[in-house]
Amino acid sequence: MSKHLIVLGAGTAGTMAANRLRRALPASWSVTVVDRDDEHLYQPGLLLLPFGTYRPEQLVRSRHAFVADGIELLAGEVDRVDATARTVHLSDGRELAYDLLVIASGTSPRPDQTPGMLGPLWRQSIFDFYTLDGAVALRDALARFDRGRLVVHVTDMPIKCPVAPLEFTFLAESWLRARELRDTVELVYVTPLPGAFTKPIASERLGRLLEERKIAVEPDFLVESVDPEAKELVSYDERRVAFDLLVTVPLNMGADFVARSGLGNELNHVPVDKGTLQSKAFPNIFAVGDAADLPTSKAGSVAHFAVDVLVENVVAVSEGRPPTARFDGHANCFIESGDGKALLIDFNYDTEPLPGTYPLPGIGPLRLLTESRANHVGKLAFRWVYWNVLLPGRPMPLPSHMTMAGKKPPAPQKATTAQM
Ligand SMILES: Cc1cc2nc3c(=O)[nH]c(=O)nc-3n(C[C@H](O)[C@H](O)[C@H](O)COP(=O)(O)OP(=O)(O)OC[C@H]3O[C@@H](n4cnc5c(N)ncnc54)[C@H](O)[C@@H]3O)c2cc1C
Repeated sequence: MSKHLIVLGAGTAGTMAANRLRRALPASWSVTVVDRDDEHLYQPGLLLLPFGTYRPEQLVRSRHAFVADGIELLAGEVDRVDATARTVHLSDGRELAYDLLVIASGTSPRPDQTPGMLGPLWRQSIFDFYTLDGAVALRDALARFDRGRLVVHVTDMPIKCPVAPLEFTFLAESWLRARELRDTVELVYVTPLPGAFTKPIASERLGRLLEERKIAVEPDFLVESVDPEAKELVSYDERRVAFDLLVTVPLNMGADFVARSGLGNELNHVPVDKGTLQSKAFPNIFAVGDAADLPTSKAGSVAHFAVDVLVENVVAVSEGRPPTARFDGHANCFIESGDGKALLIDFNYDTEPLPGTYPLPGIGPLRLLTESRANHVGKLAFRWVYWNVLLPGRPMPLPSHMTMAGKKPPAPQKATTAQM
């Protein structure tokens, strides 16, 4: 009797997972992927689009081009999952029965969750770059902007690609300087974090870059609302930050169907075992990519590294064995810092981003936590790798687990009498 695997979402994680699982499962299993449309968006390109590096048509391709033979790609909006009846309900009334389910429906910006954000200033003075239409509108607004306060703002964590707003800030600074507008524009970075990033060593290095570029930082800022009349962000502790142009990363939330199905946490992300990726509530459900509530960055690189573990564990469960492969939270991200340079960070659940070289000790060619041209070239080359290697699920010559090779951990601090 045939068995059914369904993958919800044909984005970065869902496409890689479906392609790899089709190869790993026997022909007695059908593999179906569901997505609401046929437009696969290369999201990392949204960072560079407002500065003219990419045109929209370079970032979108048909999902069909990346889904392997032997997989059914269904167009439809997922309405809810009945996990007890093992059925997916689409909003047009179709019902799909499954034996195993992979939720890969990502996370999305939700400006509707902050009072005042979607008011009269939306796409007039307030922009986001996490959507294609937002990035295009921001490109046009930047072209008109020549003086005033440019505020880059993060609503709350977790967001996908947590370094993207910082990168946007560095790129904007460099872009303004190249246009001889830096003296007429004040740049402010507003974050809910105590510093530039979530982890201390990276936060210190990135904070120094912001300081060198005379970018003011407003830390620990938890936004309560946007005051459109005053053109100000207002925090819960009653601080106000004025802007002429606001580039915000709205609250990121998982798909609404996850909440409707009773499968999500307060942000609609699916609670899973952080090692096995198996749902904490239903052993025949897994979540991968941004949809999962993993305590690591939400990033395409994480989805890519996690898919190895996912495939092993889904195959184990399909054969009636317990899932034993464990994900270590491996993430790596390029951080554009302007002027044709970038940094690279590589970390996991237990090891914070450290300086050093990657992937080869001493040789690199990429530098960890240090600006270099090679890192920037790596970031641009990643688009080709994404379409041609990652999405089709072809092997990459990089281990999915993080290694300490090339990393330089800080010297242990000598204990002083006072500390002892
Ligand atoms: C500006 C920006 C820059 C980034 N830069 C980087 C980077 O440099 N490096 C990096 O590693 N990552 C980067 N990322 C993050 C990366 O793009 C995401 O982490 C990655 O795409 C996550 O993959 P996913 O499959 O989990 O989600 P997605 O790729 O978002 O896919 C989710 C899919 O689910 C579908 N879906 C959702 N709900 C439903 C529904 N109800 N019915 C049907 N279909 C549904 C959606 O249509 C979508 O196709 C960046 C992201 C942004 C926004």
